[in-house]
Amino acid sequence: MINDYREARFPIRLPLEPDESGQGYLLRLGALNGFEKARQALTGKGWGSMPTELDAELVSRWFGESVPKLRWALGAANSSTAKGRTFYGGHQLSRPTFINRTQPRVCTACLEEDEYCKFSWDLSLVTACHQHQIALIDRCNACHTALRWRRPTPSVCTCWSPLPLNAPTYQPQIVEFEFERWVQLQIRSKSLDHNLCAEALSMHKTTHPSSALMKMIWPMSLDAGLLITYALSTAAGSPFVAPSASPSSRPSLERAQAALNAANQLATQLHEQHSAQMYIGSSKKAFELIASCLTHDFSAADRGFAQSLLAMLIKQYKTQRWSSAKPQLSQLSLFIADDAINAT
Ligand SMILES: [Zn+2]
Ligand SMILES: [Zn+2]
Repeated sequence: MINDYREARFPIRLPLEPDESGQGYLLRLGALNGFEKARQALTGKGWGSMPTELDAELVSRWFGESVPKLRWALGAANSSTAKGRTFYGGHQLSRPTFINRTQPRVCTACLEEDEYCKFSWDLSLVTACHQHQIALIDRCNACHTALRWRRPTPSVCTCWSPLPLNAPTYQPQIVEFEFERWVQLQIRSKSLDHNLCAEALSMHKTTHPSSALMKMIWPMSLDAGLLITYALSTAAGSPFVAPSASPSSRPSLERAQAALNAANQLATQLHEQHSAQMYIGSSKKAFELIASCLTHDFSAADRGFAQSLLAMLIKQYKTQRWSSAKPQLSQLSLFIADDAINAT
């Protein structure tokens, strides 16, 4: 049956909105055309499978947006097992878990204004909307189940309840709003629309974040900034994905909120050099993550920053280890030597 749809051209044909997620476009145009099964018809695979750039031609035939724009918006997802590439909104990303394709989140105030899903909501560490200063939600407060991509419209749950405006009870911290703004500008700055791109680059230059984490990662590439945030939250003992989780597991909104705030707290302590209060828990993984920014896939600015952060954390970690009962410095210095070799 699914094959019957392949040649279809649906009557309502609209362009992608600026900032609209590829998956969101599929949901919106599917709903407008009474073709709610667009997503399933596309992938035809099991639970958790998601549309990618490989589906761009078909989506273009269905709903009218150009193939290059759809490729850009849908991105490339590697399979959950292979260590392939993840590409999203014009950005190469080191980890598939940086993108959350299976557990949709929304800002209900955004949906109230314009009924389309934004790109930034698909990033696993994005938890808030800077424009409306509210938290994103990933659950329906009528049926209490997780939102799904196969809901009837962008603003209606699978139980047919409209997603309510005043749903969030959690009040996000400033870092969460600034993080979402940063992601939005990063993605716009790789937009295929040159005006949007130029505007984003100039806004990125003239915006001055106030939280310690965002001051730190603001000038970095999206991938490096995500790696550093992941590293700091891991160092603080609050990673945004459970260490054992497979890349296809569902990233939790609560865990992302905790991770961003933990990363920001550690960044604040590093900034103020409050080494007495700082505790770097899970260090090896954090060092590995930061060290992965030292390869030539990253810009000189990214590498320079990663190097100085690594030095700062190692110094702090040594201090802790020296003062602890069981110093394990021999192991640590071996690890650092390895990375120094790999990095150069
Ligand atoms: Zn919003
Ligand atoms: Zn519901």
